[in-house]
Amino acid sequence: MGGVTSDNPPDPAALRPLLPSPVQELADDAFARRGLRLLLKRDDLIHPDLPGNKWRKLEPNLRAAAAAGRRTLLTFGGAYSNHLRATAAAGRLLGFATIGIVRGDELADRPLNPSLAQCAADGMRLRFVDRATYRRKAEPEVLAALVPEGCYVVPEGGSNAAAVHGCEVLGRELRGVADVVGVACGTGGTLAGLAAGLGPGQRAIGFPVLRGGFLGEEVLRLQREAFGGRRGEWVLDERFHAGGYARRTPELEAFAADFEARHGVPLERVYVAKMLLGLTTLAQEGAFTPGTTVAAVVTGSAP
Ligand SMILES: *Cc1c(COP(=O)(O)O)cnc(C)c1O
Repeated sequence: MGGVTSDNPPDPAALRPLLPSPVQELADDAFARRGLRLLLKRDDLIHPDLPGNKWRKLEPNLRAAAAAGRRTLLTFGGAYSNHLRATAAAGRLLGFATIGIVRGDELADRPLNPSLAQCAADGMRLRFVDRATYRRKAEPEVLAALVPEGCYVVPEGGSNAAAVHGCEVLGRELRGVADVVGVACGTGGTLAGLAAGLGPGQRAIGFPVLRGGFLGEEVLRLQREAFGGRRGEWVLDERFHAGGYARRTPELEAFAADFEARHGVPLERVYVAKMLLGLTTLAQEGAFTPGTTVAAVVTGSAP
């Protein structure tokens, strides 16, 4: 029994997350050959239904919703959004009603894909909106029309100031553990918090999985919102998106399959595999001085 009764204020601690998440050292030739250590920060093990950064970003929002007396969470996502799935699961486990605003009104006439079917099975009410409206969802009058009275609104991808503060804890857990930390980026909220939580001399490298080159501005905006300005040492390496969101190349697939075979760790393909290919390539390029310890954040699990 992971849930709570409707009389209790929902408390995420009742879900017993595995925190701090475990750190696992891997013997990997591409790193060892350069005199580097490779660690995996296993955020994917935090909770089976709310893995990885989805836990870190949602938990402070769930607390804020409960503190404000809100019992309905509303959020946004595409048809395969991990964030929608995690929000639906959190609702089921903690006794929040959930509403998912889904991009693409054409989806309303089709059978639900497995990801959205899981959301629905967890009790999420799905509302499909056309792409033009979805794009304008941050505009006050569009938002007002989409959000029923009394909902706690979590933005698309779950990244707001509370979420960034949640990810700051990830950085703190890595103090004294690694010199360089790699993380995959969607909205950039995880990188924004991670970098802020690291100690002096540590730096974060973000690997965007979307094309576009807009993410640096977004990470900075999130850091301003959460902390009032830029925090920590972070850079982006934009070379590893493999064509865009959920796209794959034969090179990425070969790398991921080989990594899984060598280490017995399943790699989530949309984010985690791209980040590990990025770190491995940087190691091979000689980007890290010998003696450097590199930590790769496993932000989610393979479905
Ligand atoms: C959602 C997600 C991300 C992206 O995190 P952002 O904070 O949006 O950058 C990274 N990895 C996995 C596995 C995810 O599900």
